[in-house]
Amino acid sequence: MKKINLIDFHAHLHLHLDVIGKSSDACIKENCRAMIDPLRPFFLRVMWAPYEKLGYRYFIRGNSPLVKPMERILARVLRGVPSQNENSLVAEMDRQKIDYSVVLALPPFAPNNQILECCRKQPRLIPFLMPERNVGAAARQISDFAGKGAKGIKLHPLLQSLAPDDEFCIESAQAAGSHGLPLVIHAGGSGLLFGKTCVPEFNVSAFGRLLAAAPQTRIVIAHSGLWEYSEIIEVVRRYKNAWLDISFQHTEVMAKVIDAVGYQRVLFGSDSPIGKQEIILKNFRALNLHETESRAILAENALKLLNMD
Ligand SMILES: [Zn+2]
Repeated sequence: MKKINLIDFHAHLHLHLDVIGKSSDACIKENCRAMIDPLRPFFLRVMWAPYEKLGYRYFIRGNSPLVKPMERILARVLRGVPSQNENSLVAEMDRQKIDYSVVLALPPFAPNNQILECCRKQPRLIPFLMPERNVGAAARQISDFAGKGAKGIKLHPLLQSLAPDDEFCIESAQAAGSHGLPLVIHAGGSGLLFGKTCVPEFNVSAFGRLLAAAPQTRIVIAHSGLWEYSEIIEVVRRYKNAWLDISFQHTEVMAKVIDAVGYQRVLFGSDSPIGKQEIILKNFRALNLHETESRAILAENALKLLNMD
């Protein structure tokens, strides 16, 4: 079998234009306000482009009064996520020499069934599915996902308007563990990032409670908490069942994360197509790690979590 050198543990497909089944003109009018947001090109130019150029460096910390205005602007940038299907993701993986990508479902934008279908067509994509609160008990949904070939579970408390330690999240985490599936949970920012005005604030201790409530489940804290990385590191380092992905992090923060939790619990991830696989790889390579550490973060830790080792 070919040696696996590189796994992106955090990627998405953005299929909403196809899913809605309407012409893109109708979609733009009804669903994609971002595309007619006159200020979006300006925000992309003055905020997003420099953020990419500086390799995802944060000048703002969790307690700054500028966080909320920044999240409101980011929401306007994020609404216009470029679409990405299974073929375009694999084409980018080829360019970056990435062997596999974990693809995280985000219903309704990237529905569970569509993610499964795309991963069937492209076996280098590994499906993680998301239980939905309005569909019924999390445990039943997750046992159904396991039967259909899901390799892990995704939760996005901000998009789902849930606290990370909400009963639904805890039930999901416990059910994932009982099927031997890892769980990826978004961390960092408030609901404002996704245009939601009344959703839970970022509450770092809620992640601790989730980790404590599902000790048998391997839980990946996404983005290492974005700009709230130091708060996240402080809490999750105490839990043996916590892993962190380094999507949207600068080289310096990656070093802090590895230092705090050990290289065995850190995963390479990009958040493609919003995050760029190329930028995060460049940031990672600038760490100049020992080969053992580098191999673990780029592939071996992921292989263990995915039960592919
Ligand atoms: Zn993501």
